[in-house]
Amino acid sequence: MSLADQPHSSHPSGILFVVSAPSGAGKTSLVAALLENDPALSLSVSYTTRQRRPGEIDGSHYHFIDHDRFEAMIETGAFIEYARVFDNAYGTAEASLRETLEQGQDLLLEIDWQGARQVRERFPEAVSIFIVPPSLSALEQRLRGRGQDSDAVIRDRMGKARDELSHWDEYRYLVVNEHFDQALQELNCILTAERLRSVHQGLREQDRLRLMLGA
Ligand code: GDP
Ligand code: ADP
Ligand code: 5GP
Repeated sequence: MSLADQPHSSHPSGILFVVSAPSGAGKTSLVAALLENDPALSLSVSYTTRQRRPGEIDGSHYHFIDHDRFEAMIETGAFIEYARVFDNAYGTAEASLRETLEQGQDLLLEIDWQGARQVRERFPEAVSIFIVPPSLSALEQRLRGRGQDSDAVIRDRMGKARDELSHWDEYRYLVVNEHFDQALQELNCILTAERLRSVHQGLREQDRLRLMLGA
């Protein structure tokens, strides 16, 4: 689309980023670090039936709800995607997602591969990123080091790690989280490159371009 075809008042809609990784790969820590230095980026707060971990805040880390409420939200079509992961249900609400993007704010979803697939179907332009740990033993060490899950939960998550990993090639980008700072820098590069694509940047810079082109 040329500039002349674009309505004068059009403002850029936010970019949707989807991040997945096996549990313990470091996605929550990396995303937290990304958000700290990036005011244009928001994090989608998922709904889950999982038990709250110590330190997790309702409405901030997740909206913690019971199974009945989760089922009711499915019935009313409130979720843009939902999936069962580790015997719990997780879902992303559609209303808050659209609201954030319409405000021009970029939004990041931290969801599993099943959810990422559903999002890609609904939003083919979504930018998907897969984070891999350096090895399975490092993954187990990180899960233990996090000190928040029981042995049984860790066993379950390790058991499902290969399954999650096997979906790496469905994502546009692949980041290895061996060295935290390097992985963070790579994520920042992905965000920057995507934001600079002319389809987004052209809208942000439409006044400048119009002035120069006399359009
Ligand atoms: P952690 O990733 O090990 O910290 O564990 P969590 O309990 O936070 O997340 C469990 C799984 O649920 C992960 O694979 C997440 O990516 C996934 N997940 C979280 N929120 C959502 C969501 O809204 N939708 C979907 N489909 N998956 C989610
Ligand atoms: P996820 O959200 O993918 O389950 P977390 O962000 O909770 O993973 O990270 C799991 C644990 O691994 C945390 O204790 C975190 O501090 C640690 N961790 C994350 N990235 C690295 C890294 N590059 N090297 C060592 N430890 C890491
Ligand atoms: P945890 O229970 O450790 O917070 O998360 C376990 C897994 O659930 C992670 O892989 C996480 O990405 C995924 N997850 C969290 N929220 C959602 C969500 O809203 N939708 C989907 N599909 N997966 C989610």
